[in-house]
Amino acid sequence: MTRFVFITGGVVSSLGKGLASAALGALLQARGYTTRLCKMDPYLNVDPGTMSPFQHGEVFVTDDGAETDLDLGHYERFTGRPAQKSDNITTGRIYLNVLQRERRGDYLGATVQVIPHITDEIKNFIREKDGSADFVLIEVGGTVGDIEGLPFLEAIRQFGNEMGDERSLFIHVTLLPYIPAAGELKTKPTQHSVKELMSVGIRPRILLCRSDRPIEQEELRKIGLFCNIDENKVIPALDVSTIYEVPLTYHREGLDVQVLDCFGIKDPKRPDLKVWNDIVHRVKEPEGAVDIAVVGKYTNLTDSYKSLNEALVHGGIANNVKVNLRFIESTTFENENPADYLHNIHGILVPGGFGERGALGKIKAAQFARERKVPYFGICFGMQLAVVEAARNLLLLEGASSTEFGICKDPVVGLMTEWSKGNEKEERKADGDMGGTMRLGAYPAVLRKGSKAAEIYGTTEISERHRHRYEVNTNYKDRLEQHGLRFSGMSPDGILPEIVEYEDHPWFVGVQFHPELKSKPFDPHPLFVSFIDAAINQSRMV
Ligand code: GLN
Repeated sequence: MTRFVFITGGVVSSLGKGLASAALGALLQARGYTTRLCKMDPYLNVDPGTMSPFQHGEVFVTDDGAETDLDLGHYERFTGRPAQKSDNITTGRIYLNVLQRERRGDYLGATVQVIPHITDEIKNFIREKDGSADFVLIEVGGTVGDIEGLPFLEAIRQFGNEMGDERSLFIHVTLLPYIPAAGELKTKPTQHSVKELMSVGIRPRILLCRSDRPIEQEELRKIGLFCNIDENKVIPALDVSTIYEVPLTYHREGLDVQVLDCFGIKDPKRPDLKVWNDIVHRVKEPEGAVDIAVVGKYTNLTDSYKSLNEALVHGGIANNVKVNLRFIESTTFENENPADYLHNIHGILVPGGFGERGALGKIKAAQFARERKVPYFGICFGMQLAVVEAARNLLLLEGASSTEFGICKDPVVGLMTEWSKGNEKEERKADGDMGGTMRLGAYPAVLRKGSKAAEIYGTTEISERHRHRYEVNTNYKDRLEQHGLRFSGMSPDGILPEIVEYEDHPWFVGVQFHPELKSKPFDPHPLFVSFIDAAINQSRMV
């Protein structure tokens, strides 16, 4: 029997509901249950694929090619269960489905309305998860009280009513702000937020109270009293120094026991938290440190590189070192000498990106890494620009560039109009829709025997997730290889370059895909493990 847990948030946004949900998922798993985590987002975009990373942070791509909310990344990193397209839905998608059906005449002349048509569509999204896990955890994006969120709240209210308390549970995440002048944590915003939730007919049975300092028992009792919640189920959620500690602190505060109690599950199996204890120990007590420069464009909002940051942390966990990240805005290198910024750095990473602004700075970072033999990890755009760098400075093709920036003399990176996925042909056009028209999701690649890539993966057949429009142009492959840039990973049909690497360099790897999306703290991605290892070697030299 599947039990449904709905997680809402109140008081302010950015409370870390996604992490809270992921951590609860991990705890239930540690007790031997299967879990599935989903997210419902109230915005009107059909998916976050078209949103700027500045606005919404990273777009998390699933194996089945969906561009989803970054919280799905947390879910996957905490539970190990690969996220999938059907785990994320937005208001835009719900309306698109309903309106397409309306145009087809499927509603047989009915007046199509928010209730019941939109709410039914939301309920279908929830109901189709029935049977897929012991616990389905569904996070509702946004903050209670937002106009956009109302149809979702109405739908989960109805769903909760239909399922009853034995199969559904509402958890509300709130904030207790500390007011220095009064020297107190304030509970009033929480009370109001619960009242708001009750006014739409939802009675949370567990409150998760975020706070930057310990909460007195008396305060918890007071919140319980005013909000009509069992005192034991008002649970403190204090700030922690590493996100991987969240499952452990929630467990200490009794969250998992209380969740099971709500479903009438008494005396459950003890959880096995060894993996989480080990991870936290390694994060908190590293044996050394390396400095990695991330040369990118969205460096102001580190949420834009969420999975990347985490994958680097995972690489550090595997090697027992702390990874210090230095974000460098790539445009800096357009006027300034990269050496001034990079001379004592142990590894350079150029992450994925779009558009011409800042590209030259990334090319210069790749050049610096190649010439000075500093470990370089180019991801997607970071690979493409490393190839442009090689074409310009090794093949001496001045006009080498990517057609992403306009027509150029030597398009070493260009648009492929057709490629195959399994037995199917896929297509894209320069003037096509922006949404969902990239090479998206999992694609296989074959690695050259004896290459660094094959050594790192320990196999010659891999599958990785993609999200890009352009490809490295194989017309330049032979010439680049003659200059030492090996094409060590290709699509199985040999058409699309997937990995490049320099033979005579300690660690210079460019990948067309996004390995960071599949890295987990308990299963760090081999490329990140190897990159951090190379950075440790570099740190012994500088
Ligand atoms: N802008 C490049 C492309 O579309 C790279 C994309 C990326 O780095 N994700 O191919």
